[in-house]
Amino acid sequence: MTRFQGKTVVVTGGNKGIGFAIAQRFSDEGANVVLASVEEQVMAAAASLPRAIGVICDVADKAAVVGLYDAAEEAFGGVDISVQNAGIITIAKIEDLSERDWDATMDVNAKGAFLCCQEAIRRMRQRGGGKLINIASGQARAGFIYTPHYAASKFGVMGMTQSLAKEVALDNITVNAICPGIIKTDMWDYNDRVWGKMLGDYGPGELMDSWVQNIPMKRAGSGADVAAMIAFLASNDADYITGQTINVDGGLIMS
Ligand code: NDP
Repeated sequence: MTRFQGKTVVVTGGNKGIGFAIAQRFSDEGANVVLASVEEQVMAAAASLPRAIGVICDVADKAAVVGLYDAAEEAFGGVDISVQNAGIITIAKIEDLSERDWDATMDVNAKGAFLCCQEAIRRMRQRGGGKLINIASGQARAGFIYTPHYAASKFGVMGMTQSLAKEVALDNITVNAICPGIIKTDMWDYNDRVWGKMLGDYGPGELMDSWVQNIPMKRAGSGADVAAMIAFLASNDADYITGQTINVDGGLIMS
């Protein structure tokens, strides 16, 4: 398929996990892809895809985010689609949750998405339109235990998505969000290990296996499952969809 030929897509947190699957999907469909993340390995990830560049960028740093979109424009002439996927999580009981972890989680997950949306919108308005997709979480629907900072950040992403969608609706820009469920990535490995210890005597993979049993489809999701919905929302087939938050979770949460 070449739905996105000639289009340029920014994917934050693009070096691995869900972000790399998103980048791969857009690349497979002909897009130019700009992968951004903190670690140097983003360069190798970009080098593995055609028509792709890597940019080292902390999404919580405004100057770095401006530099990211500058780099995209310089390489490919402009940005048509921006996927705010970069995210972090920590897990702690309320008495142990540090102010530092609260701030870092809000900075990357909520402020990072805001800074990228702001910069993308400024440029998309000049370009005549675009598509923004924010990665929220099942924790934007219902907070899980020991992660109040993460849940707050993801509820924040959903609220921001709705507010921005109203503001830019007449600029030919759509803004939507995705709530992935349980997706097998490094982040989930951390969740499995730390929640597993805190919630019971779970061995490696056992917590995840037990949560997967609560999914009507009885399987964890893949980055490709998430990427497929994002590609749809970024396509012209979704031109009349904005301000929505869509669960991609095998039916785990129905809302
Ligand atoms: P991973 O931990 O595998 O990847 C996280 C990505 O975010 C990495 O590319 C990382 O880059 C990047 N990142 C972290 N901090 C920053 C930062 N300050 N600036 C730029 N990039 C940053 O996570 P997933 O792939 O699992 O998660 C992707 C998104 O999906 C996140 O927003 C997460 O909250 C959300 N999500 C995941 C679920 C799951 O089950 N896996 C479920 C629901 C939502 P680097 O490696 O360079 O640090």
